[in-house]
Amino acid sequence: CYFNNISHVFILSLVTFSKNLNMIEIRHHTFGQPIIILEFDDSQEVIIYNDKLDSIFNHPEIQDRKVVILSLIGAFRGGKSFFLDYCLRFLYAHFPSINNPNKVTSFIFKKDDTWMGEPDEPLTGFSWRSGTKRDTTGIIMWNDVFLHTLDRTGEKIAIFVMDTQGLFDNESTPADNSRIFALGNLISSIQLLNLMNRAQEDHFQYLQFATEFAKFAGSSMIEKPFQNLTFLIRDWNNDDEYSYGTAGGNKYIKEVLSPNNCNNQELQSVRETIFECFNKIECCLLPYPGKIVASRKNYDGRWSEMNEEFRSELKTFIEFLLMPDNLIIKQINSIDVNVKDMSQYLKNFFTIFQSTEVPRTSSIYEFTVESHMNSLVKKCVNDYKMTVYRNSDLITKESMPIIHEKCKEKALVLYSHEKKMGSSEHDEKFRTELIDEIDKFYEYFNEQSEQKSKEIEAELMVQHAAIVRE
Ligand code: GDP
Ligand code: MG
Repeated sequence: CYFNNISHVFILSLVTFSKNLNMIEIRHHTFGQPIIILEFDDSQEVIIYNDKLDSIFNHPEIQDRKVVILSLIGAFRGGKSFFLDYCLRFLYAHFPSINNPNKVTSFIFKKDDTWMGEPDEPLTGFSWRSGTKRDTTGIIMWNDVFLHTLDRTGEKIAIFVMDTQGLFDNESTPADNSRIFALGNLISSIQLLNLMNRAQEDHFQYLQFATEFAKFAGSSMIEKPFQNLTFLIRDWNNDDEYSYGTAGGNKYIKEVLSPNNCNNQELQSVRETIFECFNKIECCLLPYPGKIVASRKNYDGRWSEMNEEFRSELKTFIEFLLMPDNLIIKQINSIDVNVKDMSQYLKNFFTIFQSTEVPRTSSIYEFTVESHMNSLVKKCVNDYKMTVYRNSDLITKESMPIIHEKCKEKALVLYSHEKKMGSSEHDEKFRTELIDEIDKFYEYFNEQSEQKSKEIEAELMVQHAAIVRE
């Protein structure tokens, strides 16, 4: 009955899901739309749209897939949405997606230019170039999800694309910027920082929070707290010294981030610790796209009007970034995160930004630990439940306590072997929570079995009564 109910719910959600599919408007080259999942209103209050987040993350097809989240953050009108829309073109040309009815079945790299679309095709996707005045400030997610199975490991992944709008501007303080930047890092696995012309002193203030977080997390993080950070520098005009693309970019960023190149004490410490916070720091230098892209009012995004040098570098970089071998699975404390857990992480991280005006490093760290440990406890409780169910044929009133103890022991061994986060107090707290959860389930299971045997007894009595009547 328990399993029947589950499969019933599952089938129901599949039906609803396929109904939704039919309703999705199929637009030129796109099968999704941008959805605001977190918004800062005029008084800087944070509004979280959990229902929208759920509508993207709750597809039954993707729950157990590992997560890849591409995010781009940076100042307003820096060509971020424009760049992401070309990323969407690459993704649609190479990967199947939840909403794409003409599914590309597997990844075959299109070496030619075809993934970039027709030369005169207007650019759609995340809304770009919506004027000089920013309207929405927040985090926007593409509501279609790309699917792939990694050749190297056979793992199934789900790729999400996230845009940010108006988060860094003249009105926001450096402290705000660095927190928003940290939020981007916490929730994405491929984080791009979009900068105009060059990386300068005030941009490193964004990184301050990340380095603070790393110090706070200290030894409780097994690996570096953040994954990749890629500086994407637009309108680069010093290609004599550092060539376009990632080769020149990586050389450049190494120079710029070197602590020797800095007079400011505070920023020097950022430079010193930055390499300890991120698994990998990279940089790509893109050329000026040409006058039409940069300033023509009614330019519609078509690539035929880009400077050829820019088009070619844009193409090369997107191919590099999104090639399956380079996709990075979201990890927290070096554990891969799946879609199911990711939506919970997102909600948790967003909540701290909502509950305190200026979230402190300690509370963000605490949330990371809580989220990580909660999902570990859930995993171990599920392990216990599955072993109990697997043994259900052997269960009698007498054997139940012994089976319970064995399964509990197995779940606790699993808990002790898994990577944990936080202090020994955290460890103790979550271990106790795990034992409580298991004991609670045991009580419930006992009640159920007792109920079941009562039902059987009642049924036998009815049958017995019927026989007596005859
Ligand atoms: P966002 O606010 O950062 O998302 O910027 P948009 O993607 O909306 O683009 C803002 C403007 O920048 C548009 O007019 C684009 O045509 C233009 N643009 C796109 N890429 C570049 C670039 O690399 N350099 C410059 N100078 N402008 C660009
Ligand atoms: Mg934008």
